[in-house]
Amino acid sequence: MFNYFDDLAGRQLTGATLTREEAHAILESTDDQLLEVAAAAARLRRAHFSNTVKVNYLVNLKSGLCPEDCTYCSQRLGSAAQILKYTWLKPEDAVAQATTGIRAGASRVCMVASGKGPSDRDVDRVAGMVSELKDQHPDVEVCACLGILKEGQAGRLKAAGVDAYNHNLNTSEEMYADICSTHEFSDRVRTVEQAKDAGLSPCSGVIVGMGESHDQLIDAVFALRELGSDSIPVNFLMPFDGTPLEGTWLLTPAACLRVLALVRFACPATELRMAGGREMHLRTLQPLALHVANSLFLGDYLTSEGQEATADLDMIADNGFVVLGSNQDQETDDGAPSPEGSLTIRRRGAGTSMAPNA
Ligand code: SF4
Repeated sequence: MFNYFDDLAGRQLTGATLTREEAHAILESTDDQLLEVAAAAARLRRAHFSNTVKVNYLVNLKSGLCPEDCTYCSQRLGSAAQILKYTWLKPEDAVAQATTGIRAGASRVCMVASGKGPSDRDVDRVAGMVSELKDQHPDVEVCACLGILKEGQAGRLKAAGVDAYNHNLNTSEEMYADICSTHEFSDRVRTVEQAKDAGLSPCSGVIVGMGESHDQLIDAVFALRELGSDSIPVNFLMPFDGTPLEGTWLLTPAACLRVLALVRFACPATELRMAGGREMHLRTLQPLALHVANSLFLGDYLTSEGQEATADLDMIADNGFVVLGSNQDQETDDGAPSPEGSLTIRRRGAGTSMAPNA
């Protein structure tokens, strides 16, 4: 029987470019078609990334106190979100945090600082941290995320050993003024281009669930395709209390899966990361989403906690994947046996005086 999405995946594998009409078909697929969409996207994921999952680890070098007003951000100007606020971590503390993530399996460390963009002194500070980290962990990839760059700063980061630069487009050009008034979409595009021109691997993604239309979301994804982003983090809005988007709950797990599939179809060979908010929005579809995305953040996000790192590592193994760069990389694995002690004898419900589990 003809399967539209499988046929589409076949065409992507021979180098076709996803059209706007096809993008709409993915986003507007029915729940009955959800597994077909996921399976077709999984074909592309397997073809380009085999059974590997790239594990990334965030270190928030400087938290809160930002003068910009991005509506989705808990670190924005005037945010009443009760987040941790601190100025630059000491280099040894930043390296210690990163080392924890590397030991847990991360092959990329993302060093992030709040703010519109770095001063030259900030660039020097981060350069020092990166060289210290690379001395101890020469194989780790470092991605810096420091905001809008000024002329020459990308080259200085590259010279210091930084491998990649993250700056998300977040949404479409048309919608950008609705989510931020202190800088423009074009500033973001320019920074990604500067990073790319300096030889840094460009990482740029989106935040979905901010009220964007399907056309605006497709515009954003196609802009990332045009920009040549090497990795695309897809964030799902975490509507922090105390921010303008507080109480904005517009996503369902199935809608989130369709967005990941859209990005996979649009950019089949690009690293696709299920990023912030995956736990609360994909919920029980996270393992299925891992068959579409090939990358995730392990551990906590910048200002909120993620699910337990061990749960993520179990999810990767249980779904037949291996952590990229681990010694299992490329080996087949039938999944790890259940850990000892995971069976709990029932002591509640029928036959007891305790409330049942329902
Ligand atoms: S997204 Fe970045 S620039 Fe915008 S408010 Fe948050 S920390 Fe500041």
